[in-house]
Amino acid sequence: MSTLPIRTFGDPVLNQMTTDLDEIDAKVAALAASMIETMYEAPGVGLAANQIGVQKRLFVYDAGDGPFVVVNPRIIETSGEWVFEEGCLSVPGLSWEIVRPNAVHLVGRDLDGNELDIEADEYLGRIFQHEVDHLDGHLLIDRLDDDQRKAAKRTLRKMRISLSPQDPDGLHQLLGE
Ligand code: ZN
Repeated sequence: MSTLPIRTFGDPVLNQMTTDLDEIDAKVAALAASMIETMYEAPGVGLAANQIGVQKRLFVYDAGDGPFVVVNPRIIETSGEWVFEEGCLSVPGLSWEIVRPNAVHLVGRDLDGNELDIEADEYLGRIFQHEVDHLDGHLLIDRLDDDQRKAAKRTLRKMRISLSPQDPDGLHQLLGE
């Protein structure tokens, strides 16, 4: 096992849709193990595969009693509304109060191929929505309201040189410029 570099905003892999894993084999298990190690080292409570540059539908999380792995996750139902201050390992050092549904119904598979069917709300529900968003190519910045977005753009512009020197174009795109 080893840790992997986490991609930060401006990197185009974060804006691309991931694809389902057809087979859950030893390679997937090894990838998940590295992702868990990377998540703990960061430290964070969730990590999606495309955050380490792998365009596959897989995330790991630990809301306090994990770690857990979800392969091919999908949210099939949401309800309610909840405001929570959310951060992201790919947008380091920043956080915003974001409104999302409170409760979600997540389906997917574990590393043994067993079907997962989990209803979660509040903190865990938020982790699931954040990670599934990653796998669909969305960052939390996509969930900001208009005022938050304006402020975020100013902050991100100031930070761009230190955060994403390798991909200024991707960042322009993210900022809608
Ligand atoms: Zn994130």
